[in-house]
Amino acid sequence: MADILYTYKNNVYVNLTNKCDCRCTFCIRSHQDSVGDSDTLWHKKDPTLEEVIAAMDDFDFEGYDELIYCGYGEPTCALDILTKSARYAKEKYGIRVRINTNGLANLYYGRDIIPELEGVVDSVSISLNAPDREEYMRVTRPQFEDAFDGMLDFAAECREKLPEVKFTVVDVLPEEDIEASQKLADTMGIGLRVRHYA
Ligand code: SF4
Repeated sequence: MADILYTYKNNVYVNLTNKCDCRCTFCIRSHQDSVGDSDTLWHKKDPTLEEVIAAMDDFDFEGYDELIYCGYGEPTCALDILTKSARYAKEKYGIRVRINTNGLANLYYGRDIIPELEGVVDSVSISLNAPDREEYMRVTRPQFEDAFDGMLDFAAECREKLPEVKFTVVDVLPEEDIEASQKLADTMGIGLRVRHYA
């Protein structure tokens, strides 16, 4: 069975699902089967809520102050398990919750899911990936034609309704794209984190 919880650089992560509605050109899944202390992040079958909770109860959260939903898939593709397990972790272990997401959940479900994150998710990190629609579609290869605008709308709503939201880009982007991404993030009043591409 694949690892549900794993640690990497003193953070603890939840590997909730292998489903994803993108096919990013840089996705780590195409290069390696594991990250950090995990053996494999490929599930034979995505975990149930009970299995996620059992993995949390087996884990010693001492020394960790944030639980990050980020694995070999898009965590919001398992939204129900995400929100229920995050609520459990917050209530039982008093830990902050962050999700690393592609920001396409409202398109994936065809409804506004952000109210379901309120009170459960403290921080959302959204993959901006590129400063414009054309480049975004090229690198992210999402299922949805209107993915770029949908992702920006998702970010704007998260900014209004959740305690913390950030965009991320990876540092393999050309310098001018990173600058343009910073400008876009500034315009939206959202911070940008330039992530090192390992
Ligand atoms: S959204 Fe994340 S998991 Fe999905 S293809 Fe892109 S990098 Fe990989």
